[in-house]
Amino acid sequence: MMKEVVEKLEEIVEKDFILTKKELIESYLFDETSIPVRPKPTLNCIVVKPENSEQISRILKLANEKRIPVYPRGGGTGLVGGAVPTKDGIVISLERMKRIEVDRENLIAVAEAGVTLGELLKVVEEAGLSFPPHPGDEGAQIGGLVACNAGGARAVKHGVMRNFVKGIEVVLPTGEILNLGGKLLKNNMGYNLMHLILGSEGTLGIITKAVIRLCPKAEYTLTLVLPFNSRHEALSTVPTILTKGISPLALEYVEKELMEKSAMHLGEKWNIEGKVFLVVILSGTQNEVYNEAERINQICSEKGGLEVYVAERQDEQNTILKIRSNIYTALKEESADIFDTTVPPSNIGKLADMIDKIAEKYSAYIPVYGHAADGNLHAHVMKKDIDKYEKIKSEIYEATINLGGVITGEHGIGKIRVKELYKFMSPKSIELMIGIKKLFDPNNILNPGNVLSIDENQALRTEQ
Ligand SMILES: Cc1cc2nc3c(=O)[nH]c(=O)nc-3n(C[C@H](O)[C@H](O)[C@H](O)COP(=O)(O)OP(=O)(O)OC[C@H]3O[C@@H](n4cnc5c(N)ncnc54)[C@H](O)[C@@H]3O)c2cc1C
Repeated sequence: MMKEVVEKLEEIVEKDFILTKKELIESYLFDETSIPVRPKPTLNCIVVKPENSEQISRILKLANEKRIPVYPRGGGTGLVGGAVPTKDGIVISLERMKRIEVDRENLIAVAEAGVTLGELLKVVEEAGLSFPPHPGDEGAQIGGLVACNAGGARAVKHGVMRNFVKGIEVVLPTGEILNLGGKLLKNNMGYNLMHLILGSEGTLGIITKAVIRLCPKAEYTLTLVLPFNSRHEALSTVPTILTKGISPLALEYVEKELMEKSAMHLGEKWNIEGKVFLVVILSGTQNEVYNEAERINQICSEKGGLEVYVAERQDEQNTILKIRSNIYTALKEESADIFDTTVPPSNIGKLADMIDKIAEKYSAYIPVYGHAADGNLHAHVMKKDIDKYEKIKSEIYEATINLGGVITGEHGIGKIRVKELYKFMSPKSIELMIGIKKLFDPNNILNPGNVLSIDENQALRTEQ
């Protein structure tokens, strides 16, 4: 079977870009999901690297006709097993689709799916413009970022990936190529199919191109570190900052122990006094930024905060952000899973406290940090507590839902949170999602078992 498929694929894509040998396909079998919870990949798959949408269309037509599972793959930085091929089939890697152009007049970049976030940032910077959100690892690709509707630390002021995507080219599982949206700021033509595909995690179509909104370069940025002696003081400061009309680029909650660990991991030092911190990035004109910094300083002292640390030099600001961003990397070796539960922002302190109680109940270590202004909290279950993993996960999810939240605000469902989607989403919503999936992908060939499980749908529904 596989031999026959390879022969057919060779009629579509050059031989050099079709991989079947174990040592060549190995790195396409996993993503960044921690090993203890990562789905088991099949070893029997073909990796294809097409160079354009037409080739992808032909591959999907072939796969649809022969009922072969297809797994779209971007940078492989996903944290929920989304890109892992779990059934014998074809992995389509977008890595060769790297064309990008900037339209300065319309403040738009048009990027093919294989352009990485790092590459997009570089091209946009060279064009004297900016792409303000930083929605994931810089090795993540545009296709993956769009497919996952990635978020990141800088969503406070500008929003998540969805707020920046104005158009896409997508290849449907049946092979048709659709162009949805465009360089438009207003578009009310019928149902918004584009927004259905954004965040569909590679289950409704393969995104091959995205039209991305850009911004003028921010004139000035300033990074503030607000130290506090208690989590309660720190987190109660967040709504006050936001309701005063201050709109930071990022507003992050971190704890001393984690910043020290991350700094050590990077060969840096974290010397700012305090038990917990809010890291605030401000952007705008120099006047605006200093005015906002002054007001934040005032709010912070009214809320019992310690002396605010102000980083003006760009290299110092970069170091603080790097230390914050690398908490995940510093914990990675010891971590069994990272959650990205999200609650209404004013409830984030309650969620963090409830997670502390769960940690105490199970004598576990559960570090927390996150995007405070978005209500998006990262909590890790560590490998040493793996025997209690299912119970801890279940209680953290229950607590989140009870606070009006969702089990994922960033990383998505992938293949490791499908059961929980069925548990926490209404049966009618699941029924509608299954209906949509069947309409786009009648033979369930595209990333089967991701987000929804058509095969186990009935069993999962009755289990709840
Ligand atoms: C260090 C680190 C930091 C991170 N920070 C953040 C963060 O701040 N915010 C955040 O939201 N996430 C974050 N992530 C998670 C990850 O970067 C994002 O989920 C990102 O969107 C994944 O993109 P990718 O190209 O690596 O996709 P992959 O991991 O390759 O795939 C992810 C999913 O998208 C699908 N997919 C990939 N490409 C396409 C395509 N062209 N068309 C259709 N489907 C496709 C795959 O099938 C899969 O289901 C982080 C991960 C790491 C390792």
